[in-house]
Amino acid sequence: MLIKNAEALEVMENVDTLVVDKTGTLTEGKPRLTVVMAVPGFDEEEVLRLAATLERASEHPLAAAIVARAGERSLALTQVTSFQSATGRGVIGEVEGRPVAVGNSRLMEEQAISLGELAERADALRGDGQTVMFVALDRKAVGLVGVADPVKDITREALRLLHQECIEVVMLTGDDRVTAEAVARRLGIDRVQAEALPEQKAEVVKGRRVVAMAGDGINDAPALAQAQVGVAMGTGTDVAMESAGITLVKGDLRGIVRARHLSRQPWATSARSCSSPSSMTFWGCRCRWRRGCCIRSSACCSLP
Ligand code: ADP
Ligand code: MG
Repeated sequence: MLIKNAEALEVMENVDTLVVDKTGTLTEGKPRLTVVMAVPGFDEEEVLRLAATLERASEHPLAAAIVARAGERSLALTQVTSFQSATGRGVIGEVEGRPVAVGNSRLMEEQAISLGELAERADALRGDGQTVMFVALDRKAVGLVGVADPVKDITREALRLLHQECIEVVMLTGDDRVTAEAVARRLGIDRVQAEALPEQKAEVVKGRRVVAMAGDGINDAPALAQAQVGVAMGTGTDVAMESAGITLVKGDLRGIVRARHLSRQPWATSARSCSSPSSMTFWGCRCRWRRGCCIRSSACCSLP
């Protein structure tokens, strides 16, 4: 666990709500492609090839899942032109001179692409907790891909510990509502805010009481900065870590409960109230405490 400043630890003690990102925070953040579907008269392999060709230009973990499967099937990917990434929605571009879009219902709506029977198929997959991305060619939906991202082994235990501390957990995600609710139901999380764009994520955090926000993505950074205490996953992006007061190096949410326990330790209280520079070592970590801050190299203290 990396604690950037003592204030973060202090606030953690009083936190009553944890707003938590789904992908990469509750889940592994390593989605795997489970299904490819094509509309009648269109080939599944062609749906995958078009999607992977476009997604090769994206850095999103969902894109990586699609590209990986195309690689396993040895599909020949071509060049993309006019590539554009639409945050929280998907990607668009041209493949062999024809417009291609891969993304969620919101992206398809914006592109005035009707989903037809694919909408129903999508809901069945979402009900199973999968993320669905539609694939469109020439502004017509030609298929979809389903992606599953397993919940981390430690997530259930972490949620149990958080509930024991009387912390309310709210899941916050850019993913579809049906998918988010299916995952939340499995985990016993009763409050869900889905289909949230990065700025909306920050709004959710703003309106609450003593709130901690845990996330890993670039899209979580505004909310991490807005929360009274931001908790980044060390397994996530640098931007998230820069925006947060605490980083859980291995992405283990149980660290939040540990941070609360630490903040109640007598040494933490005395260190926070210490105004003159002093020095202390604990768990092999040598720190200097000054003006309420634990300073170790770049203003950071590492606890196991
Ligand atoms: P999260 O909050 O789960 O990290 P994001 O804000 O990154 O989610 O993305 C929200 C949704 O936008 C995804 O569930 C997906 O439907 C869509 N999306 C984002 N990036 C891509 C992409 N590269 N290709 C297709 N769809 C994408
Ligand atoms: Mg995430």
